[in-house]
Amino acid sequence: MLFVKNLNNLSQDSWGKSTFTYNIFSYPSKTTLSRDKVDSIIAKAFKIWMTADPKIKVTKTNSKKCDIRINFFAKDHRDGYPFDHKRRNVLAHSFYPSTGVLDFDDYELWGDGSGKTKNLLHTATHEIGHVFGLKHSDVKTAIMYKEYPFGNPPVVLDPDDIKGINFLY
Ligand SMILES: [Zn+2]
Repeated sequence: MLFVKNLNNLSQDSWGKSTFTYNIFSYPSKTTLSRDKVDSIIAKAFKIWMTADPKIKVTKTNSKKCDIRINFFAKDHRDGYPFDHKRRNVLAHSFYPSTGVLDFDDYELWGDGSGKTKNLLHTATHEIGHVFGLKHSDVKTAIMYKEYPFGNPPVVLDPDDIKGINFLY
């Protein structure tokens, strides 16, 4: 439970609001998912958090002006954190409030987690947790656990995740 240990950090990691807009600016270049499917998976990931904390309201916009910017990028994408799949298996990264940046590594084969694909819903839900201000949890069944789960389990929040998001919003 990182939340209790890091109460001071959490207070700095707040958006100071609970209504957000997001837009998806680029899509995976190799994937088993259609563009519509990517849209619906991202929407579902937001909904998972909104269901856990009804104070949070997120809507998709087509505007460049939005709170949360989602992209699929490969390698260096000019944010100082290039994706380098050779050294570490980083699937995506995001920044704490109030940055609103969520980048997926376009090197990965995004899908539903079956076969060689990486589970986009799981990774999106995890990264959105960071965007909202949650840090990693020590609880292995938490979506906010630091490692991508083995065996493609269903994407559901752990009570630990729910406690964290309700603390923040
Ligand atoms: Zn993480």
